[in-house]
Amino acid sequence: MDEKFFCPVCKAQLEVLAACGSSSYFCNRCKKLVSSKEVLAVDDKDADSIRNTERKISETD
Ligand SMILES: [Zn+2]
Repeated sequence: MDEKFFCPVCKAQLEVLAACGSSSYFCNRCKKLVSSKEVLAVDDKDADSIRNTERKISETD
């Protein structure tokens, strides 16, 4: 049930930093914070949707 969050750039799993009632997301691969509007949130069953999203992005590129 716990959500996982992934970097929209490199698809690595993000580290969730909880602070002052809000959450921040940090990509250890990009070494940068990711906005909550940009993170990819999926559970394990939907892991394939990350690849689908990636494919859509490359098609529109
Ligand atoms: Zn990243």
